[in-house]
Amino acid sequence: MRERTLTIIKPDAVSSKNIGKTLSRLEKENFNILGIKWIHLTTAQAQGFYHVHRERPFFPSLVRFMTEGPVVVMVLEKENAIADLRRVMGATDPAQADPGTIRKDLGTNIERNAIHGSDSSQSAEDEIGYFFSKMELV
Ligand code: ATP
Ligand code: MG
Repeated sequence: MRERTLTIIKPDAVSSKNIGKTLSRLEKENFNILGIKWIHLTTAQAQGFYHVHRERPFFPSLVRFMTEGPVVVMVLEKENAIADLRRVMGATDPAQADPGTIRKDLGTNIERNAIHGSDSSQSAEDEIGYFFSKMELV
């Protein structure tokens, strides 16, 4: 089934000049880009985005990290986009991620892990709606 998912090239990957590497990895995996935005998240926007984690001990640090610099937010589409993106990203902790995954190659630690991907069809729908209107997806 053709699916949509949301990805964010996180501030660590942007500041280390890894936007291009990330995009070519995603293009190689055959994702279509339906929408793309260059955003510097505010604290409120980052808190809202990671709302499900608000009670976690790492939440304040995560919000600081996600607001430290600009990010690239994209809506991606392909067959099985949600699971495929998670596979290409690798495990949350780059040290545990499989060889060849984006997080293994570009991540630094469990927080500074280069890329976000929606984890379910519900979160994909919610996260796409958080950043994009219907008209912006082409
Ligand atoms: P994401 O939602 O960003 O795609 P994920 O689904 O692999 O990542 P989550 O459990 O949703 O992982 O955590 C969201 C983000 O919070 C992680 O990507 C990471 O940046 C940060 N994070 C998760 N666990 C920890 C931790 N134990 N310590 C510090 N930061 C963490
Ligand atoms: Mg997650």
